[in-house]
Amino acid sequence: MKAAIFRGNCEISIEERPDPRTEAADECLVRVMACGICGSDVHPYASASPPDAVMGHEAVGEVLEVGEGVTRVRPGDRVAVYAVSGCGECANCRRGRITWCEDQRGSVNGGFGELLVAPERNLLRLPVWIDWMRACLLTDVLGTPMKAIRTAGVGEGDTLVVLGCGPIGLGAVQVGVARGARVMAVDPLEYRLALARKLGAEAVCSPDKESTVDAAKRWSGPGADFALDCTGAEGMALTALDSLRPGGTAICVGRNMRMEFSPWTHIIRRDVKLGGSWYLHYEDFDELLRLCRAGQLDALPLITHRVPLEEIARGFELFSRHEDGAVKVVVLMGLR
Ligand SMILES: [Zn+2]
Ligand SMILES: [Zn+2]
Repeated sequence: MKAAIFRGNCEISIEERPDPRTEAADECLVRVMACGICGSDVHPYASASPPDAVMGHEAVGEVLEVGEGVTRVRPGDRVAVYAVSGCGECANCRRGRITWCEDQRGSVNGGFGELLVAPERNLLRLPVWIDWMRACLLTDVLGTPMKAIRTAGVGEGDTLVVLGCGPIGLGAVQVGVARGARVMAVDPLEYRLALARKLGAEAVCSPDKESTVDAAKRWSGPGADFALDCTGAEGMALTALDSLRPGGTAICVGRNMRMEFSPWTHIIRRDVKLGGSWYLHYEDFDELLRLCRAGQLDALPLITHRVPLEEIARGFELFSRHEDGAVKVVVLMGLR
């Protein structure tokens, strides 16, 4: 098969690799149709010594072969690939709350190759009415904000500040609006704020021009009910906390490795909560399908560019340099 391999320092080559094969009884072979380029792909792409494996964790495709122990999917099924593997046996895995599994066994990648192998439990069946492009946003791009927003309890009429308008932040704008929240979107890039408005954000803020905390307080009155950090940038979790009204809730989904704060000043005295949320649970996927089916959510406007596998290097350049209005760039694999 053909696959894109990171060569280090932002170089990508298209190589011929052996077709992956199913080994365990619960594994399936999938022909990849499309795979999104994600912010978390940019680190290995830019690294001097990237992994030799085929990356790509936002894949959708068609099941070609199934192992003898597989019962839920069949050849010909259309599926989205869930990238966190879990152990498959604990109570959390069985309930589709795989990110809560305490025995993680790596992740399911391979979306930038023509074929991939995944355990059956990592394949989410797609209904016939959803197309490949929309479907490939239902895991990470919309699922990550859906789980964060759902578990935090954001509801009708609540105010929600979304920090960062990359694909996940803009997905959060869409999910927040679909759940009836009033949304303020924050990002330094004007074209991303324009898209946030189009997707239903009531207010926008460019942190280069005004303080996010001031803008959030002016917009929401006492401060926002909820704030979601989709940037992962250092200091942004504090900005999220400080944008809240007393009693509000901040959730981090951006991969932030560091935070310094005073529990007394930032949390206790203001009665606010700080939490985190990683990826999605299967119930979030079901809820997204329900919203899409009901016409309350359309992922398509997030996709600004589609590139064939042969042009994946251009896709990564557009995405990582924020060129040409890029938000979500999808690599067309089996699709042409
Ligand atoms: Zn992703
Ligand atoms: Zn488990």
